[in-house]
Amino acid sequence: MSEERHTLKGIPASPGIAIGRAFVYNRRFAAIHQRPIPSDRVEAEIKRFRDAVDAALNDLTQLQRRIAVDIDQDILKIFRTHQAVLEDPEVVDVTIVRIRREKTNAEYVFDDVMRGWISSYSSIENPFFRERTADFEDVHYRVLEKLTGSARPRIEATEGKVVLVAHSLSPSDTAEIDRDSVCGFITDAGGQTSHTAIVARGLAVPAVVGANIATQEITDGTLIIIDGNTGMVHLDPDPETIGRYEETQSQLSVLEHELQELHDLPAETRDGRRIELSANIELPAELEDVLNHGADGIGLYRTEFLYLVRNELPSEEEQTRTYMDIARRMAPHAVIIRTLDLGADKMPTQMPDEANPALGQRGIRLCLSRPEMFKVQLRAILRASVEGNVSLMFPMISGIHELRRAKALLDEARDELLTAGVPVGQSMPVGIMVEIPSAALTAHDLAKEADFFSIGTNDLIQYTVAADRGNSSIASLYNPCHPAVLRLVASIIDAAHDNDIWVGVCGAMAAHPLAACILLGLGVDELSMSPLDIPEIKSLIRSADYQELKTITRDALDLPTSEEIMRFLKPYQPRTELDVSDMLRS
Ligand code: PEP
Ligand code: MG
Repeated sequence: MSEERHTLKGIPASPGIAIGRAFVYNRRFAAIHQRPIPSDRVEAEIKRFRDAVDAALNDLTQLQRRIAVDIDQDILKIFRTHQAVLEDPEVVDVTIVRIRREKTNAEYVFDDVMRGWISSYSSIENPFFRERTADFEDVHYRVLEKLTGSARPRIEATEGKVVLVAHSLSPSDTAEIDRDSVCGFITDAGGQTSHTAIVARGLAVPAVVGANIATQEITDGTLIIIDGNTGMVHLDPDPETIGRYEETQSQLSVLEHELQELHDLPAETRDGRRIELSANIELPAELEDVLNHGADGIGLYRTEFLYLVRNELPSEEEQTRTYMDIARRMAPHAVIIRTLDLGADKMPTQMPDEANPALGQRGIRLCLSRPEMFKVQLRAILRASVEGNVSLMFPMISGIHELRRAKALLDEARDELLTAGVPVGQSMPVGIMVEIPSAALTAHDLAKEADFFSIGTNDLIQYTVAADRGNSSIASLYNPCHPAVLRLVASIIDAAHDNDIWVGVCGAMAAHPLAACILLGLGVDELSMSPLDIPEIKSLIRSADYQELKTITRDALDLPTSEEIMRFLKPYQPRTELDVSDMLRS
């Protein structure tokens, strides 16, 4: 095989293969200088700023109108967020006050205000917030364009579609780009939940983000292959590589067809064992994806994102509306609402500093220490439970004392509502996440007082092997197939079944094909995962033989290392209708 000329590795953000010539997308502004404004011109300068903001708002309205026809709701939401930034007094009024006070030109003051916001957002550790800096950057550029008269670069696709290469790509860049001329995106910046990723997925365009030096390495016109499944980018590939990827492209279109066919089929093994296949969501905007990917319900709604996107606490009314809306849209499917799991990796700015947040005041501990705040959420969930398909789940339970205290607060919240004449659901199931080894080891006791278990393997792994789930330098220790993890998971499943309650897994392990086979073999009743992973795991389950997996996984658990366990089980991992995806991952 002839030698590969050059490759880059980024983060896979939107699946698929794109082959095309590069278009390097650079936004350049003339340098912004501070200019004094004479007192008698200050009001005119403020008017110039207001006009620029109005023009930017007008662009956003036009964009939404155009987009409403052919793109999904997530992207529309992004533009609504941009409008909200431009209507926010902290942005607009603060700029006006400063122009007036400092007698300085509008672009200089606005640039300074926006840089302040961008730097405070980008320093937040939580990736969800860090990536929201893109909203501020987008609005920043949009208004500066109006004030300075700069224009966005236009794509001139000479032959076929281009692969867009950019440092970062804002949602409005993406929306203003002529989509018929773009077949893929590569950005230096961004993560899996960045806007480029959301938009690219919404448009079903392959994308690789976080490629760091793409804009330095790639020049206009270079032939590029993007592999949105692995994050590989090939620059100037040889004919053999091109041939290989063209072959994969055609296999992918077969795959896509098969995925559609799976949509309405149950997640049932060949020998008739039915598994609930549910979705994990962080925001209501994800519901569209959940429904499109054939989920049996919501297995984990991470409500902390309601709290993370603002400075003040969300009210009972707002929470009730949000939860009810989700329950209605998902009916008749179940929706499991997890109570607030703030702390550690989901940290709002106003939380106290702790030396060891993962072992500190997080999840249920924080809620039990602030019962009045907690009861606001409990009342909202109880009110939403009138819909009939809502369950409640407590996170980070370390022992029965916490479950009892949390249920006592739930009873108080219910009594408060009933006393006030507010209707609540008749019998809302109340379950717990089992994600701390002490809960796993006392699962028999917990199962007597919980209606269901959902195993949070993301945390269970980190606490079992003492390896921070977010620390890439010890990622090899963070191993879902560590015998200690698997034996704990098996004992939790057994404890649940011995006590006649159902048990699911909502950690990322549920979406890993080999791990999903192990969980299936151990007897799990439900798997919950990101909506995009559902079709592949459904296909795997439909190709599996439960009785066979049941026998061999119990044998595998006696092996002393994860390598031996995986080697032993790999031959039993069913070949699925979607095996092409395995090939893409390698
Ligand atoms: C888990 O810990 O596995 C889990 C699903 O919860 P989170 O990732 O939100 O901590
Ligand atoms: Mg967790």
